[in-house]
Amino acid sequence: MNNHSDLTSSNSAASCRRSEEEILGCVPGASLEDLRMAYLRLAKQYHPDKTGGGKPGQEFLDIQLAWETIVKRTEVKRKEESAAQSVDLDEMAYDEVRDAYTHPCRCGDLVVVPGSALEKNLAVFACPSCSLKIRVEYEEIGEEEG
Ligand SMILES: [Zn+2]
Repeated sequence: MNNHSDLTSSNSAASCRRSEEEILGCVPGASLEDLRMAYLRLAKQYHPDKTGGGKPGQEFLDIQLAWETIVKRTEVKRKEESAAQSVDLDEMAYDEVRDAYTHPCRCGDLVVVPGSALEKNLAVFACPSCSLKIRVEYEEIGEEEG
C-alpha cells in the first residue's frame, strides 16, 4: 500500500516547518537528555561570541527557541500527569452491567473505572474525551462482607 507517495509532497505546509527536534539535529522522539546535549553543543557552536558579529544569528535564536519549547512542553506534560483529580471511590456510581465505577467528567463524558482495574491496584484513569485524569482513592478491596 505504498503507491501513494504523492501524499507527502502535497502536504508541504507541514514539512516546511522544522520540528524542535530537527532544529537541534535530533530524531523525533529523542530523549530529553539527548536533546539537552545537542542544544548545548549547538548553542556553543552558534554563540555570538564564536561567530564574531556580537549579535546572535538566526540559527542561534532558532536553537534557543527550540530548546525552550521542548522544556516548556515537558513541563506541561509533567503538570498534566500530576494534576489528576482525586475522587473517592465511595462517591462514584457503580454500574453493575459494566462492572465498573463511573465518574461524570466536566466535558460531559464518563470516566469509566473497571472493577478489574481496581483489583490490580490501578488508581489513575483518564477521560476518553478530554485531558482530565482522576486518581481513585480507595481502601484495598477483596474483603467484601455479604
Ligand atoms: Zn472529559
